[in-house]
Amino acid sequence: MSSTSGLVWFRRDLRLDDNPAWAAATSEHHQVTALFVVDPALLDRASSRRVVRLLSDVAALDAALSEHGGRLLVRVGDPRVVVPQEAGRLGVSAVHLNHDVTPYAAERDDAVRAALDSIAVEWVPEWGTLVHEPGHIQTKAGSLSQVFTPFFRVWERTPWTPWPTSGDALLTNDPGDALPKIEGDYPVLDGEVGEAALAGERGALARLDLAAARADTYDEDRNTPSLLGTSQLSIDLRFGTLSPRRVAQVVGESTAGRAALVRQLAWRDWYAHMLIATPTLVEQPMKPQYAAIQWRQDDKGFEAWKNGRTGYPFVDAGMRQLRETGWMHNRVRMVTASFLVKNLLIDWRRGERYFRHVLLDADVSQNVGNWQWVAGTGPDASPYNRVFNPILQSQRFDVNGDYIRRWVPELASLDASAIHEPWATGPLELAAAGIEIGVDYPEPIVDLAFSRGRVLEAYGAVKR
Ligand SMILES: Cc1cc2nc3c(=O)[nH]c(=O)nc-3n(C[C@H](O)[C@H](O)[C@H](O)COP(=O)(O)OP(=O)(O)OC[C@H]3O[C@@H](n4cnc5c(N)ncnc54)[C@H](O)[C@@H]3O)c2cc1C
Repeated sequence: MSSTSGLVWFRRDLRLDDNPAWAAATSEHHQVTALFVVDPALLDRASSRRVVRLLSDVAALDAALSEHGGRLLVRVGDPRVVVPQEAGRLGVSAVHLNHDVTPYAAERDDAVRAALDSIAVEWVPEWGTLVHEPGHIQTKAGSLSQVFTPFFRVWERTPWTPWPTSGDALLTNDPGDALPKIEGDYPVLDGEVGEAALAGERGALARLDLAAARADTYDEDRNTPSLLGTSQLSIDLRFGTLSPRRVAQVVGESTAGRAALVRQLAWRDWYAHMLIATPTLVEQPMKPQYAAIQWRQDDKGFEAWKNGRTGYPFVDAGMRQLRETGWMHNRVRMVTASFLVKNLLIDWRRGERYFRHVLLDADVSQNVGNWQWVAGTGPDASPYNRVFNPILQSQRFDVNGDYIRRWVPELASLDASAIHEPWATGPLELAAAGIEIGVDYPEPIVDLAFSRGRVLEAYGAVKR
């Protein structure tokens, strides 16, 4: 350890466990300042629910640092100005951080790095948000695979870099600015009770225990949105209250269910590696011919989709779950996204922006990667002519209609034979359930057969 002081800039790594930047700083310096910068530009882009979640996790990090005798220095402002300013004021020799993969973050970090260079402060980046760092998972030809399965084969047999060990640097004690106050409760998902309903790393580790305890049945239950069948750890992974390696290590691969869950973390890595390799993915289809698709504007359709009023119960259930909780089950994300792109022929980027605003786990690399997958425009994407049928998806993955009943309560009294397509139900049955289609619940906003033909035509036109 040198007699210098260092600064750790926390961003999407709001934890001390398996945090390479924190470990490097606390072992290399005599004194360390832990910094979090509240960037108003980013707060403006997020739903208030996600801002509450972020600020609660930041406050929890501060509490965790107190146990190590220090405080988190909070500053509100543009990190391009604040980070060099604080580095200069504190006289640190280095700024430690874990990389973020979005184009916005890359641009911001380039600016901070240049400013630090000019005052002779070292910039020390690490990889703490992915299982494997970009560039390490390559095909035999030495490049990033454009197809997931070959990527996964290399991913699963590549050894991890060693776990970082933190040192015993003295922490500084200045809490800096007060965190902004935002109305709203800390968002808690189904099944999160006790410690697992707490913010920050402590809550996250308890949520990981719950997820690991049910992981044996992950492969059987993961596609049934009425069940607590998935890990629900995406929000912790997004804010970095958990490291993906800790998730993989605790879940393990001793059963098929566990291995299937860990495999999903490879998708997460893959989409992040893809975005680093091709930052234009945020705006442009990976397959350039699709840039010419003639999307429909259809503001009315977009609003109906957003508000869960398309007349397709499974789609509406998903969109209402999203609006009411900030989270949506993966199967339903696929179906709702497909409905927007394929049945309404609305540009995937519009849907991606809405999800990005409202999802608690919103992550540009994952959101863009998955939207492009659904739209058929991305790497290793769903074929363009695969159009999910929202009724068949509903009948298959919500067999009894329990998920729909929960999120679309006006249909709750319909039985399983009627709930997936209420408009096709006989008038007597509808009357007995007290439902008038078009009054209590919308008519379908688009005909499935017609919209399937329309989207195949639109995609076909640019493929020709
Ligand atoms: C249109 C659309 C948009 C999406 N947007 C996001 C997003 O903004 N942020 C996000 O984290 N995920 C996104 N996903 C992926 C996936 O839906 C969520 O990661 C998952 O639903 C989170 O729930 P979970 O933690 O219970 O997942 P689990 O099934 O328990 O999986 C464990 C972890 O693996 C990762 N994972 C799972 N599925 C995927 C996937 N398809 N792609 C990449 N990683 C995956 C996640 O980190 C997840 O937490 C999106 C999917 C679709 C179809």
